[in-house]
Amino acid sequence: MKKQIYLDYNATTPVDQRVLDAMLPYFNIHFGNAASKTHAHGWLAADAVEQARQQVADLINAEKDEIVFTSGTTEAINIALKGVWENHKSKRNHIVTVKTEHKAVLDVCDYLSTQGATVSYLSVNREGIIDLHELQNIITDKTILVCVMIANNETGVIQPISEIAKLAHEKGAFFFTDATQATGKITIDVTDGIDLMCLSGHKFYGPKGVGALYVRRKNPRVNLATIVHGGGHEKNLRAGTLNVPAIVGMGKAAEFAKTELWETGAQISKQRTKLEQYLLDAGNVYINGSTKNRLPNTTNLLITNVKADKLTAAVPLVSMAMGSACTSAAAEPSHVLKAMGLTDEEVFSSVRISVGKYTTDEEIDFAIEKITAAIKLLRG
Ligand code: PLP
Repeated sequence: MKKQIYLDYNATTPVDQRVLDAMLPYFNIHFGNAASKTHAHGWLAADAVEQARQQVADLINAEKDEIVFTSGTTEAINIALKGVWENHKSKRNHIVTVKTEHKAVLDVCDYLSTQGATVSYLSVNREGIIDLHELQNIITDKTILVCVMIANNETGVIQPISEIAKLAHEKGAFFFTDATQATGKITIDVTDGIDLMCLSGHKFYGPKGVGALYVRRKNPRVNLATIVHGGGHEKNLRAGTLNVPAIVGMGKAAEFAKTELWETGAQISKQRTKLEQYLLDAGNVYINGSTKNRLPNTTNLLITNVKADKLTAAVPLVSMAMGSACTSAAAEPSHVLKAMGLTDEEVFSSVRISVGKYTTDEEIDFAIEKITAAIKLLRG
């Protein structure tokens, strides 16, 4: 069988072998429950969790006790948004977010609006970027939370995070950012005004089913509410026995994401640019979103007169996406590209290609050859 080439690193990444090696002993040798306080098995597991907490904190320039482990970004978003709203709803009940956020944020906002929250959805321009004046005008003294992701999962477009945080803080609101796609691809520093932030292990060569929520402890301290009751784990925010192997893996992955960022970033960016350039040369192909403020690994291309589903089917040996993985099961056009002003037809002619640290130059050459041939064929 011919090798299948993976160019969908924004959907998920393979676990780094060194991460897997670090995790394995925690399944059957150091298998203790991190909440067992009376014996060495428990202490060892708890120590491993604390080391991972430090590794995650180091990646984002946070303090160790500002990291809460969760089952992934989706859970972290639920804890952050519901927790802030629950704590402050009697005084402030307005939330501001963006039309191009991931469904994990939009669906929680929808839920909160059924509970009495008022939610404003910011527009984006054709480049996928919000208008800071619109944000400034929309925030009021009733706004409790501004939620804007660092980088978009479909286009890789990066928002002006520190300016957004500043505007939120001027009106006394907290700033939450979804860093799921930015982690391991660009530098993240929570001292840029971030009050709450979520990460997911499987997006940066760690395991699936583990994530983290950063919660600012001072200047200002962010108080949340218990979302999962049942034992008081993780600062009483989400109870349940900790998934120690996965947490160890996420910690190790965070360590490599920090130490190897520049090395892998340069290679990834070169490969993405080469692939993109060749596909643009096919003619009537356009990049969706800003090319200036964008993740180094992502390209979202509008290939006119070619249906994205036909293209992916015509190039079965290359794994690439139409819109985001989480919504690609639905036949609806991507809400992200629609918000950027693309027509339905343009959205259905757009593909997302995302490279990663295991992508080789040979794979890029193979993908260029197969995709350009398929474009020609499908255009007839
Ligand atoms: N937010 C963004 C930007 C994402 O890309 C994803 C996953 O694709 C999520 C949230 C949800 O992450 P998870 O499935 O790990 O909870």
